[in-house]
Amino acid sequence: MLKNDQLDQWDRENFFHPSTHLAQHARGESPNRIVTGGKGVYIEDRDGTRLLDGFAGLYCVNVGYGRQEIAEAIANQAKELAYYHAYVGHGTEASITLAKMVVERAPANMSKVYFGLGGSDANETNVKLVWYYNNVLGRPEKKKIISRWRGYHGSGLMTGSLTGLELFHKKFDLPFSTVLHTVAPHYLHRPDLSMSEADFVAYCVSELEALIEREGADTIAAFIGEPVLGTGGIVPPPAGYWEAIQKVLKKHDILLIADEVVTGFGRLGSMFGSAHYGIEADFITIAKGLTSAYAPLSGSIVSDRVWKVLEQGTDEFGAIGHGWTYSAHPIGAAAGVANLKLIDELGLVKNAGETGAYFSGKLRDALSAHKNVAEVRGEGMLAAVEFVEDKPSRTFFDPSKKVGPAVAGALLKEGVIGRAMPQGDILGFAPPLTLSKAEADEIVAKTVKAVASVL
Ligand code: PLP
Repeated sequence: MLKNDQLDQWDRENFFHPSTHLAQHARGESPNRIVTGGKGVYIEDRDGTRLLDGFAGLYCVNVGYGRQEIAEAIANQAKELAYYHAYVGHGTEASITLAKMVVERAPANMSKVYFGLGGSDANETNVKLVWYYNNVLGRPEKKKIISRWRGYHGSGLMTGSLTGLELFHKKFDLPFSTVLHTVAPHYLHRPDLSMSEADFVAYCVSELEALIEREGADTIAAFIGEPVLGTGGIVPPPAGYWEAIQKVLKKHDILLIADEVVTGFGRLGSMFGSAHYGIEADFITIAKGLTSAYAPLSGSIVSDRVWKVLEQGTDEFGAIGHGWTYSAHPIGAAAGVANLKLIDELGLVKNAGETGAYFSGKLRDALSAHKNVAEVRGEGMLAAVEFVEDKPSRTFFDPSKKVGPAVAGALLKEGVIGRAMPQGDILGFAPPLTLSKAEADEIVAKTVKAVASVL
């Protein structure tokens, strides 16, 4: 084992971390927690500090840490066949089995899944397939993609453009001009406090309609959205939102991409967020919960109506020129098969719904009345607390006060990881789907202490 100061030095000198203040890290001013182990909902660092991970890594370790079944499946696959590609019809038992398992769990109108590596590349695949689809149908001008402000769809060139968070655009010359953004469906942030929830949904619809009108429906190919906004603040949609939005999309022949990287495989208490909210998507993006992050793997599930056009396209134009070396990587696929089996065996979809509701209910009971808590919200095993400077007038804190990060920091000192979401003063939770009521109680009690120490 390397000495701590040696690791710290190499970390500062050689490791380019994602989403990190590089200068502060290089100067040793920001935390560099080195994580050494994990069991259940807890992780441990090199100093022996044990933390309850209320964010499941990056909302991905859905079955919890230390699952031997998945580790063994990965090891067995690596010993037997660590790699073979999936180009021109090749496959492995693991990748084919996983495709079957994913489709069995997906909505009835979907029977094909394309495997990639992470959520960003899966969304890049979706956009390329949307464009291909419209080219095959002979409408090359129908190409723009509508996303929502505060949506998160990755940080590639196109997916960073789709993401509607300033941090991911700043100084990167994004977003691309083929990407349009519409209103984030967050009732707390309605433009006029007198609006009812139904008024606000009508407002979201009218903004979308106006955007389509301005641009011309014949230029708009697809709409992408997370069933519950994730990185943008963990925001369940207002009642009736998805039904109303889908009516507009159908009217204008606009495809729907449901980005279920966070919500797929049980996080909302349903196998998919699409089933949870009655979303009929043409593409479903999956990643994180597909393998519970034991190995990198993502997927684009494609509807049968899109698939027919893709087949027609290859009959007309030849093989589809899209693939990654690691598409359907056997080790990721083996992890996925073991992970989905475990989710079923442990009844984790049900637990996400039941214990998730218990958790957000307790959080609400404990914090809703606080003078600086604007809202406590949750759906399944997702929850968030949003802070406000003055509740009656809904005046939010100046971002420079960094209230969200301060509360997350105080919570960390209590031994619980919550996430200060990147925009707004929001403390987010997305624990493993295995969370017990006792663990939920621990998060709530420590969050109350952390809030009290800051506000
Ligand atoms: N889509 C959503 C909804 C996500 O939350 C994320 C990551 O958090 C992504 C896409 C991008 O996934 P990745 O980081 O694996 O590229």
